[in-house]
Amino acid sequence: MSSLPKFEDHSRQEVKYSTCYMCACRCGIKVTVENNKVRFIQGNRNHPINKGVLCAKGNSGIMKQVSPAKLKAPMLRKQGAERGSGEFEIISWDQALDILTERLRKIRETDPKKLAFFTGRDQMQALTGMWATQFGTNNWAAHGGFCSVNMAAAGLYTMGHAFWEFGDPDWDRTKYFMMWGVAEDHASNPIKLGLEKLKRRGGKFVSVNPVRTGYQAIADEWVGIRPGTDAMLALSMIHVLLRNDQFDWDYLVRYTNAIQLVVCTPGQKGDGLILRDENGKPLCWDLEQETFVDATQPDVKPALFGEYTAPDGRPVKTVMTLIAEKYLDEQYSPENAEKVTGVPAEQIERLALEMEHVAFK
Ligand code: SF4
Repeated sequence: MSSLPKFEDHSRQEVKYSTCYMCACRCGIKVTVENNKVRFIQGNRNHPINKGVLCAKGNSGIMKQVSPAKLKAPMLRKQGAERGSGEFEIISWDQALDILTERLRKIRETDPKKLAFFTGRDQMQALTGMWATQFGTNNWAAHGGFCSVNMAAAGLYTMGHAFWEFGDPDWDRTKYFMMWGVAEDHASNPIKLGLEKLKRRGGKFVSVNPVRTGYQAIADEWVGIRPGTDAMLALSMIHVLLRNDQFDWDYLVRYTNAIQLVVCTPGQKGDGLILRDENGKPLCWDLEQETFVDATQPDVKPALFGEYTAPDGRPVKTVMTLIAEKYLDEQYSPENAEKVTGVPAEQIERLALEMEHVAFK
């Protein structure tokens, strides 16, 4: 009689619950550990962010522990080895700290700003930033500065809150979702789940991206833009909306600085600055009182467009007037934007008007 096949002995395995940190989404994960080593990672079905889904990047999180390329100790280029030859030897932490202390001391004694200090995706940017400023350099940054922080800032300005990676867009009510320039290695599970929800409800998903892989593959409309020209596309869409008089007047008045007055004295001191009262408050023109008032007060009846003369005689215009003057210019017309972005003029016009239709009709 043949013996029964032997399976793995799971008795020494235990499951730890955590969150994935391979991107900013923080999906819930179940990590199977054996002999104090990570065996594999699975999605946690009970986690509200990802509901059990784990992307390829999340799965490969195990490589943070087991990759043969992982640095386990400080390494120093071998004496006499050419830079780039890849010949290193392991040194102790004490040696590494001595070398760095000596180098940093020299920089600090001469010009601390010569230190460019960059940290990766970590949870202690406040600490590393404090260290850098104490050292005396303002040349410091971290991963978030050109990744999630910008995204969070845009989220705050557009949706009123941040971190769309966590699935913040209102997937239950969104009718039109336009995604711009998301990196190819970005694989947010909350967004995937949200897109599925949106598409099942019949919402439209438009993706602006030079390539058509990743999320773009399931977009209802792909806008294959020339790399680096997103701003022109956005400004041309603003041009179309302005030309068609389609913007949210109440929103601009209530939540933006569109009503504030800007000093217009080209070539002179103060040009381009917001007009302020003696307490530093930004001013707007109140249509009922017919005078300059504090633009931050909730009960003002401000002019969104207009040119006025400030009490000190300087000409001023509302922010919105300057925006309209600038972006109604022909250089931002869809025809000209097509030459820059490669996106056909009719498509630019239609996308802007589709957005307007969803927002206002
Ligand atoms: S989307 Fe992928 S990489 Fe990002 S946290 Fe979730 S599993 Fe990890």
